[in-house]
Amino acid sequence: MSKENLIGRTLPELENLLVQLGEKPYRGRQLFKWLYGTRQYDFSLMTDFSKQLRETLTEKYTFEPLTLREKVKSTDETEKFLFQLEGGHLIESVLIPNDEKGRNTVCISSQAGCAMDCKFCATGKNGLARNLTVGEILGQLIYIRDLHGSQAYTNIVFMGMGEPLNNFDNLIKAIEIITDSVGLGLAAKKITVSTVGIVPRIYKLADMGLKVRLAVSLSAAIQEKRLKIMPVAETFPLDQLAEATRYYTQKTKFRVTFEYVLFEGFNDTMEDIKALSELIKSIPCKINIFAYNPVPGLDFARPSDEKVDWFARELYPRAPAVTVRKSRGRDIDAACGQLAGRINKIGGFHVA
Ligand code: SF4
Repeated sequence: MSKENLIGRTLPELENLLVQLGEKPYRGRQLFKWLYGTRQYDFSLMTDFSKQLRETLTEKYTFEPLTLREKVKSTDETEKFLFQLEGGHLIESVLIPNDEKGRNTVCISSQAGCAMDCKFCATGKNGLARNLTVGEILGQLIYIRDLHGSQAYTNIVFMGMGEPLNNFDNLIKAIEIITDSVGLGLAAKKITVSTVGIVPRIYKLADMGLKVRLAVSLSAAIQEKRLKIMPVAETFPLDQLAEATRYYTQKTKFRVTFEYVLFEGFNDTMEDIKALSELIKSIPCKINIFAYNPVPGLDFARPSDEKVDWFARELYPRAPAVTVRKSRGRDIDAACGQLAGRINKIGGFHVA
């Protein structure tokens, strides 16, 4: 009989499980702490459990993070992990150590593939395979933490493969485990959920009071232009997105981050700057500007460094805060989906 993998089980689920095994619910919290907090995955070493409970757990259950298919490291220390899911799908995570603010950030995936079809993104081209389970979302974090220790990452961004707000329930469960003081123990404000703009889910997330940070992948502030690169703009036009974002900032008291990927000759004019500054008026926010990392087979080009500087300089007086983000791990194609598209290809196979 194959053992059931407990990774991804929430606190209430573990409490229920322990009750089913004839134990008191508080044993579920103890198990939760052993697995996620203490990093003890060997049930036989859980010293505050009876011998019989340890034996039952060992017989029926396991706790296993994801299977690593490949890992590549950039000359700038950025690491990209390619994980193979049950059923064969591949997902990626990127660990970016020591950024300009001294943070270690891990960028994780929420779906295998993506349905949003952003025109600059290789993941979008292949469509959605499926949502990740809670265990698969957490498995990325737990694998990397087991490899590099508890300080492996200080910040988590849901900015890898997939649209996190389209896997809402599993996203929320994962965040609950991450932020529990005896779970992964990371503060909610250290977590950023990055969306292309699923408007009703932005309201829902704001109303849940989780206090995670929100980033919006914008990349065009003119509706007709955004429609050309991000089909989501048809369902949720820019004015609705701006309103939802404003609501999020009011509810959480956090400013939102707008990610703006610059494409040569497409969204890099003075007209774009004026539209952007108009759109964000009265929204507490900062704007992160990235130069596009070209993806073979996709029809977009990277702007020159001078163009990026010009855009940022012109935008600066018209926006609350503007940051130009440097690409990390370019030699290993490490940029995450919503930032710059990805070449989902490592060692000769594609992430799908
Ligand atoms: S950029 Fe993000 S949301 Fe858009 S298709 Fe790619 S993975 Fe999906």
